[in-house]
Amino acid sequence: MFLDSINKFLQKKQYPSFSPKAVFFDMDGVLFDSMNFHATSWVKAMSDVNIPFTHYEAYMNEGRTGSSTIDGAFNKVHGRNATEDEKHQIYRSKSKYFESYDASPVMPYALNLLEKIKAQHLEIFVVTGSGQASLLNNLDNNFPNIFVKEKMVTAFDVKYGKPNPEPYLMALKKSQLNPWEVLVVENAPLGIESSTGAGLFTIGVNTGILDKKVLSDSGADIVFDSMHDLFKTWDKFCLNWH
Ligand code: MG
Repeated sequence: MFLDSINKFLQKKQYPSFSPKAVFFDMDGVLFDSMNFHATSWVKAMSDVNIPFTHYEAYMNEGRTGSSTIDGAFNKVHGRNATEDEKHQIYRSKSKYFESYDASPVMPYALNLLEKIKAQHLEIFVVTGSGQASLLNNLDNNFPNIFVKEKMVTAFDVKYGKPNPEPYLMALKKSQLNPWEVLVVENAPLGIESSTGAGLFTIGVNTGILDKKVLSDSGADIVFDSMHDLFKTWDKFCLNWH
């Protein structure tokens, strides 16, 4: 299964080899089991302004900037983008709902996987659309000695955000690696679109409510059912690298 996916990837991209030296991690839905909180916050904030928006839509839009998510929902109902004021109000209320939950739980087996990867001397990056002010602290508290500021791309760094390839291309540039030397771990269809658009081998991990097929249809090179699943098979997967 692994070798198949790798060979398909190499053939499609015409890369000379597959020799990962870094792993780029998405954050929400991969490192933190936070997507349900985000989805519920979106549904409530939209409903406050009479915009119908479901949990499913929240998962399908995961990774998009707040502004673009709001425009999408507005267009469906009003046939226009939201004004800056409307965006500001809805995003503020979404953030308030989100902050009302206790800290997001760490995704089971995320720390185990990170520690394993660190022990293999692979570099670890985080590439997230999140713009929480306390993001690095939060990562540090939950995953001590794994992440550094220089190896992060967040909402503060990007202009377009996912699904544009921009955030992953930025991380690639920071890493000074070739695209065949990087692996991405993503849970969201738009995140997968972004990383495959940047030419990177993308592992989809289906941690949410979407059908597994949605992740492979978005272009994931291989899809796992959970982080536990990925952790369990990591060593076997590594045997297929050159
Ligand atoms: Mg995610």
